[in-house]
Amino acid sequence: MTIIDIINKKRNKQELTKEEIKYAVDGYLNGNIMDYQMSSLLMAITIQGMSEQETFDLTDIMLESGEKINLGSISAVDKHSTGGVGDKTTLILAPLVASCGVNVAKMSGRGLGFTGGTIDKLESIPGFNTKISIKEFIKQVTDINVAIVGQMGNLVPADKKIYALRDVTGTVESIPLIASSIMSKKLASGASGFVIDVKVGNGALMKTISDAKNLAQLLVKIGKKYNKKVVCFITNMDEPLGYTIGNSLEVLEAINTLRGKGPKDLTNLVINLATHMVSMGKNISINAAYKEVTDNLLNQKAYKKFIELIERQNGNINEIKISKKILSVKSQKQGYVEAIDTLRLGEYSRIIGAGRLTKDDNINFETGIVINKKIGDFVKKGEEILKIYYDTKIITNDECLKCFKIVENKVDENKLIKEIIE
Ligand code: URA
Repeated sequence: MTIIDIINKKRNKQELTKEEIKYAVDGYLNGNIMDYQMSSLLMAITIQGMSEQETFDLTDIMLESGEKINLGSISAVDKHSTGGVGDKTTLILAPLVASCGVNVAKMSGRGLGFTGGTIDKLESIPGFNTKISIKEFIKQVTDINVAIVGQMGNLVPADKKIYALRDVTGTVESIPLIASSIMSKKLASGASGFVIDVKVGNGALMKTISDAKNLAQLLVKIGKKYNKKVVCFITNMDEPLGYTIGNSLEVLEAINTLRGKGPKDLTNLVINLATHMVSMGKNISINAAYKEVTDNLLNQKAYKKFIELIERQNGNINEIKISKKILSVKSQKQGYVEAIDTLRLGEYSRIIGAGRLTKDDNINFETGIVINKKIGDFVKKGEEILKIYYDTKIITNDECLKCFKIVENKVDENKLIKEIIE
């Protein structure tokens, strides 16, 4: 068997055997297969696709490429998002679910490109420690039901290396590659069930509902192979979630949401995801879980759990800082917001320092964007449409205004939750 035979076979739309996929993945990981050969195979997969069997095999090979976390006696449920703009859901969801008595042992990532990452957001809270040992992680979950840390151990090294290559070779947007990448990491993290938020829209990896559905169905099927329950939500990313983009700003919005003063879309999404996690974790009905979740949001138990989590990991929310340099962008016309270029807003937030282009870039926690208008909102001429919290780099007024399409006729709000697949 040679890598060239494998590339040719996939290029000719033939199904690869598990041995052939393993030869390619293991060979790439140990350095016998070069970047250019793996890139070629990934591109062939992106264009020709993979069968379900090939995707199951790839997931299994990646999962077995490194360590797996053994959470021991704690049974935890986990959540994952395929990535979007302004997605601060985990910051609210984790303490909310934990406040209902369900363990949340969460390993999160950093942001790259236009998408943010939970670990960067948490590190904008001065003192917050995202690097604790596996032993301490399990102890914290045992003590207070929740811990959020960065990636630990040598989990799925094959995905780490292949994802970095996909990122720079135009091979991220492949449904089987995304499904195997997500599920290998989730399965290695040791949780007993998963709620996955598959984002769809102009600020997401999946641009169409049919692609988002295909991805969701594949994620659920991979979960079934491993006897793990997976519930996928397909949710709107044609506009940012909530009103803020950028690390400190998003943490402050998450805190407001935990105190019952959050944006409607963010609150609604968190309640729905939490309900399924609590139902899964406690094996209770959706209605019973919904009641616990909404009660704990209202009676501040979720907020108190958040404070407990932050203090346990040494953070101080009173020290969160946002930039004092603010550009106020005003609308030049009157009408209804019909569309928001979410990808471009995400890209702008990266340019002003809130995100990174390469893994080694530094982040400025204090910068970001607050949007005042969402799809369907009415805006007057001269009214502030967004605020840029900047430091050294700034976006012009005109560039910001290009992100909003304003029309004369009334526009409906976007539907947030498009479908639930399980
Ligand atoms: N998130 C992942 O973890 N992997 C992908 O391939 C895409 C999004």
